[in-house]
Amino acid sequence: MFDYIISEEAKNIKEEVRAFVREEIPHTLIKKMDKEEINYPIEYLQKLGKHNLIGLRFPKEFGGRGLNWECEVVALEEVGVLGSSLPCLYSLPIITGEAMNMFGTKEQKLNYLKPMCEGKKYTAEALTEPRGGSDFFGATCTAVKKGDSYILNGEKRFVVGAEGADFFLVYAKTNLDPKADPRSALSLFIVDRCEGVETEYIYGLLGTRGGGAGRLKFENVKVPQENIIMGEGKGGQIFYQMMVPERLTTAAGSLGSARTCLHIATKYSTKRKAFGQTIKNFQAINFKIADSITLLDAARSIVLNTAKTIDNGAPSALQRRLVSESKKFSTKSCWKIINNAMQIMGGIGYTTVYPIERILRDSRIGELWTGTTEIMNLIIQHEYYKELLSEKWLDRDVEKDAIDADHEEEKHFG
Ligand SMILES: Cc1cc2nc3c(=O)[nH]c(=O)nc-3n(C[C@H](O)[C@H](O)[C@H](O)COP(=O)(O)OP(=O)(O)OC[C@H]3O[C@@H](n4cnc5c(N)ncnc54)[C@H](O)[C@@H]3O)c2cc1C
Repeated sequence: MFDYIISEEAKNIKEEVRAFVREEIPHTLIKKMDKEEINYPIEYLQKLGKHNLIGLRFPKEFGGRGLNWECEVVALEEVGVLGSSLPCLYSLPIITGEAMNMFGTKEQKLNYLKPMCEGKKYTAEALTEPRGGSDFFGATCTAVKKGDSYILNGEKRFVVGAEGADFFLVYAKTNLDPKADPRSALSLFIVDRCEGVETEYIYGLLGTRGGGAGRLKFENVKVPQENIIMGEGKGGQIFYQMMVPERLTTAAGSLGSARTCLHIATKYSTKRKAFGQTIKNFQAINFKIADSITLLDAARSIVLNTAKTIDNGAPSALQRRLVSESKKFSTKSCWKIINNAMQIMGGIGYTTVYPIERILRDSRIGELWTGTTEIMNLIIQHEYYKELLSEKWLDRDVEKDAIDADHEEEKHFG
């Protein structure tokens, strides 16, 4: 049904990315990454760059295609068929590119955004610290101004591309006064892999392998002042904008993973026999298919509607609520769909004969990274309360439809 509501441009990009995913990604790449024989697939990023598929929304002069979020989410669903590691590496330029494109200087765009979109420079986002990822404003990395540079110290962990990336977007405190407002104490820096930047540990992961996720240590790293994005104290403001690509990329990518597992399980159910008949005929099986396709259509709907709402200029608070709802609903639904697929397949679905087990391991990250589901809820309720309580009430006063509505003495609020 979605082909009837997306634009021609989005349909074209969907076909283009689908063909790329089908023809240009060797099966061996995915297997080797899952077996951790490859820790950072540079050729994949180079290929994406050559096909001009990185950072579709960014202006053509900086290596993108000048497309919109609708096209981006449609493309992401296609890449999501690959699991979560390759889609994550596809998403990182969308995420770090947002900061550079919206808030960066022309030099930053030419030196980092453009080569990144061309598949010539590799990027990573270094936000999470060992002390915690959810409490963004509690960051403890510091950047102290010294002459024409900042001296960066501290640690970040779980950084995809800690091994492999050429440059990192790093949030660090520039106002070290403990009484300073945390929202204006942080700044965002583009940090090249250079002296003092060490990858200290590469994590063993349940899934999402081969992306070089590790812990980074910054020890007296000299960052030129021209690599600060938007100026001192603007990290918080940039972070609020970064929530959009962070969450929408995960929400959209998850759809591809769930879709492909549902396809495999549905086809399997038409072939596999038990008790003398194909398992498709058991209501316990075909109702799982029904539940799964309903969830998938609903998840895609919220993702696509969010993308279009943003494209049509929704205010940033509404964007933050919608991307959080999309990520929460899509990752939860897709996890359920992938589990349903495994259940339909029986024991063979749990083995490495089929890819469901890998995609299931991969997809578990969806509710954890780029903000956990709990943090999504925190934002959704916060933005909704603010929205509702500040709005002029235009609806009918339905409270007055209650038979005893005039019993004001019964309306106690504590
Ligand atoms: C494979 C992988 C890749 C990742 N890639 C990156 C990356 O490239 N760059 C990057 O910067 N980070 C990355 N992350 C980090 C990820 O975004 C964080 O792990 C995530 O944001 C949670 O932070 P945390 O692990 O420190 O958990 P914590 O913040 O310690 O949270 C622990 C638990 O407490 C809950 N919690 C915390 N605060 C609240 C609250 N106020 N209300 C309710 N519940 C709360 C959380 O939901 C969670 O369940 C990655 C993580 C993994 C595992």
